[in-house]
Amino acid sequence: MSTLPESPVEVAFVGRSNVGKSSLINALANRKQLAKVSNTPGRTQLINLFETPSKGTIVDLPGYGYAKVPGRIRAGWEKMIVGYLLEREELEMVFVLVDGEIGPTKLDVQMLEHLRENEVPHTIVATKHDKVKSSKRETRKRDLAAGCEVAQKDVMWVSASSGVGIDSLRNAVNGILGKAK
Ligand code: GDP
Repeated sequence: MSTLPESPVEVAFVGRSNVGKSSLINALANRKQLAKVSNTPGRTQLINLFETPSKGTIVDLPGYGYAKVPGRIRAGWEKMIVGYLLEREELEMVFVLVDGEIGPTKLDVQMLEHLRENEVPHTIVATKHDKVKSSKRETRKRDLAAGCEVAQKDVMWVSASSGVGIDSLRNAVNGILGKAK
């Protein structure tokens, strides 16, 4: 992590493998193929950086919890991710992605606990809004927020497929990175 380039201000995206992180970053960038979308979960093992026009940086951290990677290696990444999240001074906001279809996993809850305990500013983003049937949405929104121990209004729902919530999230990101001078 010490090799990351200097940046005036950063936001990071984290989430478990297959949560839809690459698809979301592509949708935010409004440019296909900016982030590599993988069919095999957990292919994004590297840290991808995207510089924005304001000179702020979007940091795409490796997905956690990919079962096919040996535990020893996985533990190494997870330590690195947490180290970055807790220590990086330039980091203004962590967007924690939670799969809207399946809700928070144990690893998601652990990540949120780490961030909360260490007072790292974070926002929960629920992905794959289009995969939740409209008849189930209200219940799902309530349950997901409860599982993450936040109020419903504090969860941003998005879909890379339908475009729901993408503009709001892009505005939130730009608002933070726009602080860069
Ligand atoms: P990553 O491992 O977190 O980077 O996840 P990907 O972006 O590679 O997405 C994992 C899988 O979920 C892929 O099959 C995507 O096509 C699918 N996916 C991602 N976002 C959405 C979404 O908003 N809606 C739906 N229906 N599928 C999605």
